[in-house]
Amino acid sequence: MTTRELFREDSYVRNCTATVARVGDGCFFVDQAVFYPLGGGQPGDIGAATWDGGSARIVDTRYVDGDIGHIVEEGADTPPAGANVELEIDWERRHRHMRMHTAMHLLGSILLYPVTGGNISAEKSRLDFDMEDTIDKEAVAEALAKLVAEDHPVSCRWISEEELDANPELVRTMSVQPPRGKGAIRLLEIAGVDLQPCGGTHLRSTAEVGAVRIGKVEKKGRQNRRVNIHLDD
Ligand SMILES: [Zn+2]
Repeated sequence: MTTRELFREDSYVRNCTATVARVGDGCFFVDQAVFYPLGGGQPGDIGAATWDGGSARIVDTRYVDGDIGHIVEEGADTPPAGANVELEIDWERRHRHMRMHTAMHLLGSILLYPVTGGNISAEKSRLDFDMEDTIDKEAVAEALAKLVAEDHPVSCRWISEEELDANPELVRTMSVQPPRGKGAIRLLEIAGVDLQPCGGTHLRSTAEVGAVRIGKVEKKGRQNRRVNIHLDD
């Protein structure tokens, strides 16, 4: 089955009506999704589903057998296949994920080292860098605040591998090389700041990141530095 991924077309869509394509064990699948499935360090969305004769809380969203599974609260009913279901994400939580995710891209544009890992949550996020140098936390915090204040527009676009091959300078400007052999590549661009393949949900502009703070900088092994960030509201 192919699920239309509304969250990749517009990350600000909070709800939609979808048709249940099939039902799994404690989860269901739909023809079009607003719930972001766990991936790229960003958690799966939570929220609510209602249909004729029933409702359920969605406690997680993740890929199940290759499709986007909406996982219902334990013991809750799932809507039957063919049903129309109203889906609504927990927007407050997702918006924090979007602020964090966008802030991570900004952080990666400040610390130009290979990223070895990362994790996003509504309260705290982290990015791991392959680096031996110590980090000047104050300078990084200042640079991050500047990028937020400058309000750079953020956009996504799809590009085919053929287009990419025809524009090698695009690859050169990317902070992360795109995966090959999977068809179209989704590019995230923060104008003048970052360009890289990314499938996550982002803000429209960097000012919306708002009050972000650099937390602990941890030394994880000789060649790994972990930078934690927090949202201050
Ligand atoms: Zn991203």
